Amino acid sequence: MQTVYPFGGNAPHDDPRQRDKTVTGGKGANLAEMASIGLPVPPGFTITTEECVRYLQAGESFRDELKAEVAKALTHIEAAVGKRFGDAADPMLVSVRSGARVSMPGMMDTVLNLGLNDATVEGLANTSEDERFAWDSYRRFIQMYSDVVLGLDHGLFEEALEIVKEDNGFYADTELSADDWRSIVGQFKGIVEEEWGKPFPQDVHEQLWGAIRAVFDSWDSDRAKVYRRLNDIPGDWGTAVNVQAMVFGNMGDTSATGVAFTRDPATGVRAYYGEYLINAQGEDVVAGIRTPQYLTHAAREAAGAKAPSMEEAMPGAYGELARVFDLLEAHYKDMQDIEFTVERGKLWMLQTRSGKRTAKAALKMAVEMVGEGLIDQSEAVRRIDPMALDQLLHPTLDPQAPRDVLTSGLPASPGAAAGKIVLDADTAEQWANRGEKVILVRVETSPEDIHGMHAAQGILTARGGMTSHAAVVARGMGRPCVSGAGAVSIDRNSRKLRIGSHELSEGDEITLDGTTGQVMLGIVPTVEPELVGDFGTLMVWADELRRMRVRTNAETPEDCRMARQFGAEGIGLCRTEHMFFEASRISAVRQMILAEDEAGRRRALAQLLPEQRADFTAIFEVMAGLPCTIRLLDPPLHEFLPTRDEEFAELSDATGLGVDHLRRRADELHEFNPMLGHRGCRLGITYPEIYEMQARAIFEAVCDVQAASGKAPLPEIMIPLVATRRELAILKALIDRVAEEVFTEKGARVDYLVGTMIELPRAALMAGDIAQEAAFFSFGTNDLTQTTLGVSRDDSARFLAPYVDKGIFPRDPFVSLDIEGVGQLVELAAERGRATRTEIKLGICGEHGGDPASIAFCEQVGLDYVSASPYRVPIARLAAAQAGLAAGK
Ligand code: ADP
Ligand code: MG
Ligand code: MG
Repeated sequence: MQTVYPFGGNAPHDDPRQRDKTVTGGKGANLAEMASIGLPVPPGFTITTEECVRYLQAGESFRDELKAEVAKALTHIEAAVGKRFGDAADPMLVSVRSGARVSMPGMMDTVLNLGLNDATVEGLANTSEDERFAWDSYRRFIQMYSDVVLGLDHGLFEEALEIVKEDNGFYADTELSADDWRSIVGQFKGIVEEEWGKPFPQDVHEQLWGAIRAVFDSWDSDRAKVYRRLNDIPGDWGTAVNVQAMVFGNMGDTSATGVAFTRDPATGVRAYYGEYLINAQGEDVVAGIRTPQYLTHAAREAAGAKAPSMEEAMPGAYGELARVFDLLEAHYKDMQDIEFTVERGKLWMLQTRSGKRTAKAALKMAVEMVGEGLIDQSEAVRRIDPMALDQLLHPTLDPQAPRDVLTSGLPASPGAAAGKIVLDADTAEQWANRGEKVILVRVETSPEDIHGMHAAQGILTARGGMTSHAAVVARGMGRPCVSGAGAVSIDRNSRKLRIGSHELSEGDEITLDGTTGQVMLGIVPTVEPELVGDFGTLMVWADELRRMRVRTNAETPEDCRMARQFGAEGIGLCRTEHMFFEASRISAVRQMILAEDEAGRRRALAQLLPEQRADFTAIFEVMAGLPCTIRLLDPPLHEFLPTRDEEFAELSDATGLGVDHLRRRADELHEFNPMLGHRGCRLGITYPEIYEMQARAIFEAVCDVQAASGKAPLPEIMIPLVATRRELAILKALIDRVAEEVFTEKGARVDYLVGTMIELPRAALMAGDIAQEAAFFSFGTNDLTQTTLGVSRDDSARFLAPYVDKGIFPRDPFVSLDIEGVGQLVELAAERGRATRTEIKLGICGEHGGDPASIAFCEQVGLDYVSASPYRVPIARLAAAQAGLAAGK
C-alpha cells in the first residue's frame, strides 16, 4: 500500500486513496484535490495516517521503506520547483504540516521555512535578491522549530526579539532590517544551544525527520488525547504529515498571506469574507501582531477601515483568488474556508475545507445553494444539524446589547427571558395576570409550581440538573430556564435573594439566557425568532422527505397553537394531571382524593367534569381534524395532597371534615416509592370513577366541537402504566361504555381509539397480548428508561454525569434513548404488536421524541410518529427527514 503521496507539480492524483481523508488526512486530501482540478498548489507530499499508526505501534520508529519513499517524494518537489533541498546556492524550503481526518487542536503546529541553515540562508538571500527576507525567514524557522519540534519555551525567543525592538525604538516587525534579523538569528541560535544543550541542527535532513517525528508524536500528546476523549475521536486514527514547498508571503509589498471564506460564515450572505496581511507569513494573520486588512472593498467600506483591501491593493491576485473561490464552491458544493499566500503577485492555495458556520448561516447557504443549482433539496436537508435549529426557535438576546452577568447555571432550556423576580408560583401567576413579566426563582421546582412556571417568562433554580423537574417542564413549555445556579440563595422570610455578592428583592429585574446559562442584572433586549424565509423553505423540503409524522406533547391551547405554528400534526401526549393542579380545581381534586368512599369521590368529580370538558374543548378546537392522544390520570395521588396548614384549613372548610381527620387520610396515602406505587392505570382500576369522569369529559368535548365546527379531532385515549392485557381490557370496556352513554345522550357519534403507553418492560414483552386490546402503542420512553435501567430520573443527576464521563453510558439515557438496551424493548414490542394487529399505530412520547439520534432509531423500527415538545417540533421534523433519507439509502 502506498504510504507517501506526492501532490502538485506533475503528480498523478488519480489514486482515490489520496483524496480519502481517512488515508491522507483532511489537509492532505484537499491539497491533492485542489491540485487535481488545476489550482495553484505548491508541490509537496503527504505521509499517510496509516504510517503514523505503524510508527506509534513500532515504538516510535520509522520503517526503512518510509525513508526511501520520502527521499523519492522529495525529488518530486525538487523537480517541480527546480531547486534542491539543502542546496547552499539555491535552496528549496518546505513546510511540515500535521493533518488528521478532522482538524484537531493538540496536534503539532506547522513548521515553516524548513531547510534553512547558515549556508542556505545566504543562497536564499542571493536568489531572492532580498537579504532581509532571507534572514527574517531563518529566524522564523529557528523560532518555530525550537518551539514545536525541540519543545523549548517560545517565550525566550519572543523576549529576545522584544528587547531588540525596544532598544531600537521599533514598533512593527516590518521595521527591522536584514542586519537586525541577522543578529537576532545569532541570538536565537545561542538560546537553542543553551536550552537544548546542542547547536541548532544544520543538517536539513535531520531537520525534516525531526519535524516528521514531532508530528507523529503529537498524536499522542496529552492535549490531543483530551480533545479526542471530549469529542469521541478514536485514538487509532493517527495523523498524516504534509511536506510542502514553501511559497513566501513575506517577500515585500507584492506578497501577502490570508484566510478567507467563500461566504460569510456568520450570516450566510454570499460575499467573499476574509482577511490578509501584506508582507507576512503563515500565522501572522491570526497571531494578532499586526491588524489584518479586509479582503474586499465592500467589507472595508462597511467597517469604515482605512487600510486598503486586497481587492484594491492587489487587484490581479485578488481577481485570481475570486476565480478560485468560485471554482472551489462549484467543486465542493459547499462554503469553503481557505488559506492562501501571494508571492510577488502570484496566488498560491495552501488549504481548503468546508467551513464552520452559525445555524442561521447554515440555513441561508443551504437554501441559496439549491437556488444556485449547486445542491439538491435532499442535500440541503441533510446539511443542517437539527439541534442547531434550537438556536433559531427561541427569542435570543440581542448580541449588540451589553450584559451585566451576575452568575451562570446550567443551560437547561434555551432562549432568553427577562422580567421581575418572583419567589413563588402564586405570586408569579398574580403578577402575570396584571400584565407583568416575571421570572420565577426557586430553590427547585415541583409539580405544584406548574402554574407559576407557565405564568413566568423564564425560570431560575438554585439546585437541580439538566433533567431536573424545572428543566424538563421548562423545555416542555418552551420557557427558558437556568437550573442549578449554585450562587443563588433565597431568603423566603425577607423575600430577598443573593446572587454572589448582589442582594436583590422580589420585583427587581433580571434576564436569563437559557442557551448559555447566564443570569444578568436588568433587562437585556431580545430579538424574535424568524420562522419564515429560509427556515420555512427548508422545513417544507424536510416535510416532503419524511415518512414519520411529527406530533407534539402539549396540554394547553396556547401550547397547541404554538406547536401547530411549528408544524405539529397532532398531539402525541396530552397529560391531564396538570389540569388538576390549577388553583380553581385543586380543592375539588383534594376532596376527591380524601373522600372516604365512592359517593364522596363522585361528588367531587362532578365538580371537576365541566372544568375538564372545557379544557378538552379548548384544545380540540385548536387541533381540529388531527389525532390527539390524551393520557388519563397518571401520577400518584399524594402529589395533589395539601402540605401546608392553611391548605388543610381551607379543605376542612370546604368538606366539613376536621383537620385531624384530613391529615390522617393524607398520611394513609403516603407511599415509600411513588414511582412504582399507586399510579397510572392502577388508579383507574381501583377508582374507576376518575377515568369515567375523564372519558366523559373527552367525549362530550369532541361531540361539542364536532357539532359546532364539523371538525372534530380524533381522540386517542391512552391508558398509562399498563403491565397486563387484563388491565387494559377492563379500562377499555369502561371507556367504550362511557362513549356509548355520551353518544346516546348527544345523539351523535365520533371516531375514537383506545390504546396504551408501553412504559414497563412487562408491557413490552407482552405487547403481542396487549395489542389484542390496544388500537395504538405509544412508547413512554421516560418511564421505560427508568424501569428498564432501574434508575430514577429525578435522583440520577448525582451519578449520571460521572457515568457518562466514564463511558458507561455514551449519553444521558434520559436525553438520548439507550438504543442498545431500552431500544430492544421498543423494537420487540413494535414487532409483537404488529404481529397481533397489523395496522396498530405506533409512536413515541418520551422526551426522546425530540432527540435526533432517538428519532433515527424510531425510523429504523418503523414507528408511525414521534412526539416532541412544541419548540422541538421543527427539530423533530428535520431529524425525521434525515432519518428517512438515511433509511432510503
Ligand atoms: P493549521 O492546521 O494550524 O491551520 P497549517 O498547516 O494550515 O496549520 O499552516 C498554517 C499556515 O502556515 C498556513 O495557513 C499558511 O499560511 C502557512 N503555510 C503552511 N505551509 C506553507 C507553505 N508551504 N508555504 C507558505 N505558507 C505555508
Ligand atoms: Mg495552527
Ligand atoms: Mg491551516
